[in-house]
Formats: sequence, C-alpha cells, structure tokens
Amino acid sequence: MTTGAPVRVGVVGAGYVGLTTGACLASLGHDVICADIDVARVERLRTGDIPIVEAGLAEVVAEGLSSGRLRFEIGAPAAATNTDVVFLCVPTPQGADGGADLRYIETAAAQIGPVLDAGALVVNKSTVPVGSTRAVEDVLQRPDVAVVSNPEFLREGTAVYDFLHPDRVVIGADDRAAGERLAELYAGLDAPILITDPASAETIKYAANGFLAMKISFVNAIAAMCEAVGANVDDVVEGIGADNRIGTAFLKPGPGWGGSCFPKDSRALVKIAADYGYDFTMMKGVIDVNDEQKRRMVAKVRRAVGLAPGRGLGGAVVAVLGLTFKAGTDDLRDSPSVTMVNSLLASGATVRAYDPTVGVEPVDDKAEALRGVELVGSVNEAVKGARVLVIATEWPEFASIDLAEIATLMAADAVVVDTRNLLDPVAVRAAGLGYDGVGRS
Ligand code: NAD
Repeated sequence: MTTGAPVRVGVVGAGYVGLTTGACLASLGHDVICADIDVARVERLRTGDIPIVEAGLAEVVAEGLSSGRLRFEIGAPAAATNTDVVFLCVPTPQGADGGADLRYIETAAAQIGPVLDAGALVVNKSTVPVGSTRAVEDVLQRPDVAVVSNPEFLREGTAVYDFLHPDRVVIGADDRAAGERLAELYAGLDAPILITDPASAETIKYAANGFLAMKISFVNAIAAMCEAVGANVDDVVEGIGADNRIGTAFLKPGPGWGGSCFPKDSRALVKIAADYGYDFTMMKGVIDVNDEQKRRMVAKVRRAVGLAPGRGLGGAVVAVLGLTFKAGTDDLRDSPSVTMVNSLLASGATVRAYDPTVGVEPVDDKAEALRGVELVGSVNEAVKGARVLVIATEWPEFASIDLAEIATLMAADAVVVDTRNLLDPVAVRAAGLGYDGVGRS
C-alpha cells in the first residue's frame, strides 16, 4: 500500500494503539518515530521483539525497521522533535469518579509542547471525553499548533488489519484545513473519511463502544431469558439475525464484555452524559446486565459443583481454559475470565488455568491479576481431577479439545461450563460430561 507524500510522524505511546498506528503508518510510506516512557519496551522494539500479542504486528514492525521508516525512541519529546504530525496514543484509564483519567494525556501534551515544530499537527487518538481536544490545546500552549481528534476503532487481536482496512476514519477538527491535512495521511487507505467538529468525533468513539456493549448485554439478557423459559439462544439469534435490520454481528452470548475499552468507556459515557445534565439510564442498564452476567457465570460453576448459593466452593478443583478477555490477544485488562477466577478463588475453589498467551510464569500486572491461580501449560494439565471445566475464552484450540480424553482425566460427574457456547453440547454429553452453556436449553 502506498500513499502520497511521506509525512514525518511522531507517535507518543507504543502500546496496542500506538505501536499499531506507528508501524502501519510506516507501512503506508511515512517516516515514523514511535516513543514510549517504558525503556525496556523501547529496547525490545528496537530489536523487532514485540511486547504484545497482535496478529501481523511483528511483520509490519520488521518491515518498518528494515526500511528505516520506523524508529523507536524513549520519551514523548523524541516523537515531537522534527515531526509534522504527532499522535497521542497514551492510556485513558477509568478515574475514581467513573470518568476518563486524563493524566497521561496531559502529561504527554506538557512534554511535547515545548519541542513541537512550528505548524505541527497534534492528533488525539486516545479515547477521551468531549472537550479533551481543547484541554490538550490548553496544556500545549502552542497557538501555532492545531489539535485534532482522531478516535481509533481497531480491535485487539486484529489491530493491524483493522488499522489498514477501517470501516471509516473519523477526524474531529475546528480548523477544516487541519482535518484535511490529517486526512491526507490516510490517503493510502480505502476508507470513507468523516470530518466533524471535535465534540462529535469524541462522541462518536464513545457512542460506538457503548452501542457494541449494548448489543452484547442485550443478547446476554436474552440468553438469561432463554434459560428461564426453556428457549435456545442459538436459534433465537439466528431468527432475529435473519432480519437485516438487526443482523448477527455482536449478538453472541458469553461471559460478559471486558477488555481495556468497553468497561471504562461505557462508564465514561455515563459520566460525560451526567456532567452535561443527561441521565443515561439505558447505558447504566447495559453495565448492570454485564455485571450480572459475570455473577451468573460464577453461579453456573457453583451449581456444577453442587453447592447451594452462599456456600463456599471448599477446595473443589475448577479448570479454566482461557484468561484473556477474548481470543487473539494477551490482554487481561478487565477480562471476565479474570473476574470469575478471582471470585472462585474467594469462594475457596482451587483454580487451575491454561491460556495460550499467558504462560505459566506471567510477570508484572498479569502476575498480580492472577495471584493464587495455578497456571499450567496445557489443557490436559488443567483438567486433571477437576470437578468443573470452564471455557472462558473462545480460543480456537479449545473448540477442538479431545472430550473423551478430558472425561477420563476429570473427576467423576464432571461438568463443562461453556461460557462461550464454543462446544457442541451433544458431543460433550456423549463423552460422559455434564454441560451448561449460556442460554442453551
Ligand atoms: P496501552 O496501555 O497498551 O499503551 C499505552 C502506552 O503509552 C504504554 O506503553 C505507556 O508506557 C505509554 N505512555 C504513557 N505515558 C506516556 C508518555 N508520557 N510518553 C510516552 N509514552 C507514554 O494503551 P492502549 O490500549 O494502546 O490504549 C491507548 C488509548 O487508545 C486509550 O485511550 C484507549 O482507550 C484507546 N483505544 C484502545 C484500543 C485497544 O483496543 N486497546 C482501541 C481503541 C482505542
């Protein structure tokens, strides 16, 4: 893929969004400096060692390093020195009040303000509340520099593909010329470009994530109803999805949505609305359904062990397959599996887990999130002697597990709690195991 004139691009933050943005823009022909404050991360990246699991990312980074179009540097100022367009791709975690914590954005803006070239363009790609484009302008104190919003819609697991094949590019700019200047950068992509004002662009990002979370909560609520009335959610989704006003996308029941975006963005949407005087009760309901869904999955495990509600799991061995919030990523942030595992541990269960990307000796935040979990390196090790097997992430390899072998390894009367509806209930029962899915009666 090629673009028009190469642009000198700086990217602040080399995480899921920043690293993907930097590497993909280099693959489009631009000259990119990608900077992070994490020195170890930068040193790894300089050798082409990718610190996250993301399909195709190693290849685009390697291509950028060998062509010389992608460089990694330490600290935000390096990305803003001698560059024309600087992307902010730093975290915006949930703050204490439910809103987005803008500390990283403000710090990064303060760091780049003094070194930006005259006439540079600063692009806010982090997910930020309405008004943040102005907030960045205030911190930068650079009237000669335009600030625009350019929310990112990539999905972890398919980040490179999504970046290079977006459904749309959204740019929020008060200054139309600045918006068009950014649009030029994406000239190599085959995607519609929507230029709006900054508040609309910022709202689009939260509205998109809120809507997707709503679809999942809706189908999870329907699944709960299916269990109550004796209907089968697979048939119900097929039946409603055939209506092309509805479709089937994002209507797959599961253990609840999680990850680094939906949980914080849904709460931030409620908070932004409240700050401007609107009580977004619908979004609150979407969040409540999701919290309830995670509790429902734990209740399924308790039932599978044969316990009355409220009693402990007293040493029962529970095998958990999958810890990441979805397949294709190594990200454990707000993973429903991790929430469930911690709830099971708190009830006294012994939890043995296997995830293809987490390994048996995670470090830093991952080690902290999984404290108390016995991590093993294979499905068979996880299920040995277990009373319950929980399918918590839809990794493709779990769809083809050897059920007959697993039945011989597990305890007598063992049950599979399939929170992803990944397995065929008939095949599971034929192997001599109990089965409980989501909304599948
Ligand atoms: P991340 O935590 O993976 O990466 C952020 C990086 O920024 C880290 O490596 C951190 O060390 C670095 N950083 C922080 N402060 C810095 C500074 N002052 N200078 C240089 N580097 C700095 O985060 P992410 O998942 O890439 O998310 C970034 C933003 O993009 C968030 O606002 C998020 O909501 C949004 N977003 C994320 C996704 C996703 O799927 N992860 C998708 C769309 C939008």
